[in-house]
Amino acid sequence: MDGGSLPPSPDAQVTLSILGLEVRYDAHPALKGVSLEVREGDLWVILGPNGAGKTTLLRTIAKVLKPQSGSVIVDGKSVTDWSVSDLMKRISVVPQGTPFPFSFTVEEVVMMGRTPHLTPLAPLTKRDREAVEWAMTVTDVLSLRDRPFPQLSGGEQRRVLMAKALAQEPKTLLLDEPTANLDLRYQAEVLELIQRLNQEQHLTVISVVHDLNLGAHLGRQFLLMKAGQIVACGDVNYVMNPQVLQQVYEVPVTVSRHPVTGRPVILLTDRRIVASAGIRVHIVCGGGTGVEFLSALVSAGCSVTAGALNRGDTDYETAVLLGVPVVEEEPFTPLSERAVVQTKDWIQKADVVLLTEVPFGWGNIANLQAILESAKGLVITVNPERMAERDFVNGKAVDLLNQIFATKQVATIHSLSDLDRLLTPSGKDGSGG
Ligand code: ATP
Repeated sequence: MDGGSLPPSPDAQVTLSILGLEVRYDAHPALKGVSLEVREGDLWVILGPNGAGKTTLLRTIAKVLKPQSGSVIVDGKSVTDWSVSDLMKRISVVPQGTPFPFSFTVEEVVMMGRTPHLTPLAPLTKRDREAVEWAMTVTDVLSLRDRPFPQLSGGEQRRVLMAKALAQEPKTLLLDEPTANLDLRYQAEVLELIQRLNQEQHLTVISVVHDLNLGAHLGRQFLLMKAGQIVACGDVNYVMNPQVLQQVYEVPVTVSRHPVTGRPVILLTDRRIVASAGIRVHIVCGGGTGVEFLSALVSAGCSVTAGALNRGDTDYETAVLLGVPVVEEEPFTPLSERAVVQTKDWIQKADVVLLTEVPFGWGNIANLQAILESAKGLVITVNPERMAERDFVNGKAVDLLNQIFATKQVATIHSLSDLDRLLTPSGKDGSGG
């Protein structure tokens, strides 16, 4: 297992320790040496392809399955040593699709969550009623209390099941695909509820989520599993890394940024672009014009370099996030001689130089000069006909670009989708211009 940095929670108590879990169904191994430490107030998202072992992990934590080896420690004691009702007061589970064949009302379903607190044959206490009322209030289902559960919409049913789990008054909530089969609005409602419960009620949450983008939106800590093992564990940027995701899901992906939240957005990449794996590409970009190209080229397996870029530039941040080597310069500083020399060296070594729609000013014009002086392979330019609009150096950028067109192998593209046509081995000769 590999780990990325997590937001520090130095004061938070460890509420759950999972140590070397091995779980088999007959001879079939479902968990192979899974270990994890969960702290009070954590919001874990468990990701992974079908059959990775996510549900098995939740069921083992909840003592539904007994591991062949390893242990789950809750509040300092192995789950095997907790009675079921005492464990249910600490951990409650919202499983995938809970069938309620009888027409219980919402309030009756939520009341079932009190089971671990009840004394057999004794009437409900004031405390039980208060807990049910509280659970229905925080999940916003009070107005549904007399409605038959089976008649509710999928999103309403999910909220009621969360209320039932909360009526248990657990410290930790285990959720198995809480947004499955919900439309966009109900997905948003359920995700907001989980985040609210975590932040306002200080509930520790461990949730299996299938959809990578919903998971990226929801979680604070991330666990990525495959074939019963943990592949990556860490913060969102560490786990939602194109190389890691590609390795786990076996499809090319592009990781971009959500324009509002800044969180990763995972998109499938056209499989054909993978044909460009191994090509050495240097990107001259800046101001966010390189984000999608950087992600796509890294996902495609190209050996990518970038720069020169000022630290703090959006493309600089993206490149660093993707592990792309960057020629870097101080923020708001014209490119130094050192940066220009390094840039020329990388441009010279590249099979392909990609020039995005970056605006040129006196601070970065040396990048364009570097292409003219050093490029040996194909130069791909994105919408070069618009260079005049982004030339803030009195025509020098247009002039340099004209010289590049006159002396280099140049291809032009209009968008990311044109790239695969040019980067396949047969297109490396520049015939795409
Ligand atoms: P999904 O995303 O498809 O729900 P998952 O990551 O939750 O998958 P699990 O349901 O934990 O995966 O299954 C892990 C492995 O164990 C799979 O190979 C599955 O076929 C197997 N498995 C799960 N439940 C059983 C069972 N009751 N009997 C036999 N094998 C099982």
